[in-house]
Amino acid sequence: MKTVTIDRDKCVGCRNCEMACAYARTQETCESSVSNIRVNHYIEQRTLMPMTCLHCEEAWCMSVCPAGAITRNADTQAVVIDANRCAGCKMCMLACPFGNIHFDNERQVSHKCDLCDGDPKCVGHCIAGALKYQEMNDLAAAKRSKYDQMVIATAH
Ligand code: SF4
Ligand code: SF4
Repeated sequence: MKTVTIDRDKCVGCRNCEMACAYARTQETCESSVSNIRVNHYIEQRTLMPMTCLHCEEAWCMSVCPAGAITRNADTQAVVIDANRCAGCKMCMLACPFGNIHFDNERQVSHKCDLCDGDPKCVGHCIAGALKYQEMNDLAAAKRSKYDQMVIATAH
């Protein structure tokens, strides 16, 4: 499948990705707080780490959703939330080991990256080339595994 890959060494912290995602989601605001991609700053480690859904093969968010609101899109293979089915219980937020699900307080539903139906806007607006939308070949899969481990290590 194709997914958004992140090269954190290239990230310059401009947050264009957050703004592009926020606008694509809402068509109203570029406010980072509604984005599905978040650029985390770890001051002590002097590290910038954009984070967005990894569309895990074994998606724990999908497994725990009691409303059956989270499914895999047959075309893009993205793990997606159907806002009309979401019960707002936040179980998916608890289940995601990476904190990649966010909550819309106004609508009382969870939201996450859906790969923009195969045209992720964050990628198109990344001025540094840190984000790419590409096939997950073995090399990229290995990199993702390394990235996952680093995210877990940094978050704890
Ligand atoms: S929201 Fe989290 S658990 Fe669900 S597919 Fe994305 S990264 Fe995996
Ligand atoms: S758009 Fe690219 S360079 Fe800018 S913050 Fe996002 S990932 Fe980093």
